[in-house]
Amino acid sequence: MKKENNKIKWLNRQNVRSMTIFISFLLFPIIQWYFSPFLIIMGAAEGIMNGSFIVFMVMILIGFFFGRGACGFIMPCAGLQECMFSVNGRQQKNRKLFRLKYFIWAIWVLVIAAFVTMARGYHKIDFFYGIESGISVDEAWKYIIYYIVVVTFFFMSLFFGKRASCHYICWIAPFMVIGRKLRNLLGTPALQLTAEESKCIDCRICERECPMSLPVSEMVQEHKMEQSECILCGKCADSCPKKVIHLGFGCPERRRK
Ligand code: SF4
Ligand code: SF4
Repeated sequence: MKKENNKIKWLNRQNVRSMTIFISFLLFPIIQWYFSPFLIIMGAAEGIMNGSFIVFMVMILIGFFFGRGACGFIMPCAGLQECMFSVNGRQQKNRKLFRLKYFIWAIWVLVIAAFVTMARGYHKIDFFYGIESGISVDEAWKYIIYYIVVVTFFFMSLFFGKRASCHYICWIAPFMVIGRKLRNLLGTPALQLTAEESKCIDCRICERECPMSLPVSEMVQEHKMEQSECILCGKCADSCPKKVIHLGFGCPERRRK
């Protein structure tokens, strides 16, 4: 019985989450190019919808149902970044700088649009364009690109702290944010946080635990649990001693005046 209890304790949401993002990071040499911001441009120049184009469209769909949950549970570089928390656990406080990723994203999308216009539109779908073997790093020289990405994420975490790349440079997050905004507009059920602010004792444990450096206790008090930087990891819910916060499926709540 005691053994069974230990097993259940071990198999909690945060441990499962840590495992999935770590496994995803280990798989990065296989899947990296399906998230490539460059292959999509090369494909656009030839009028080809490639794997990363399709993956990014799927990200909008994921965003519609799960918000940025993929950042919390499956994205490969999340594993690397969370491993770095013990080295530099500094929180990101300059929220204005979070806009940088949207700026980078907008320029990149314009470049793709320009190339596809020059190619007179998309006229072919090739999911394995540039990844003929299906495996991203299948030749020695491709390790150079692999390490450029890994080293970039590593140093961003080392110098700037908690999930710095997610906040400032990630080119994938805006797709999920678009999906989420669409869902918020339509008001359909999706994964979301809810809170019972009357139970909150303002201990701020949730805030210290949040991997995205969000002002969680303020969000609870102001009844603003919907945040575009929230990756719906549930760490605030799991760390709250009063069980104030809940992660589950539901429709957007109306904001209180
Ligand atoms: S951990 Fe729970 S009780 Fe403490 S501030 Fe956060 S929501 Fe409130
Ligand atoms: S607010 Fe909660 S669910 Fe959102 S990122 Fe922070 S800890 Fe995760």
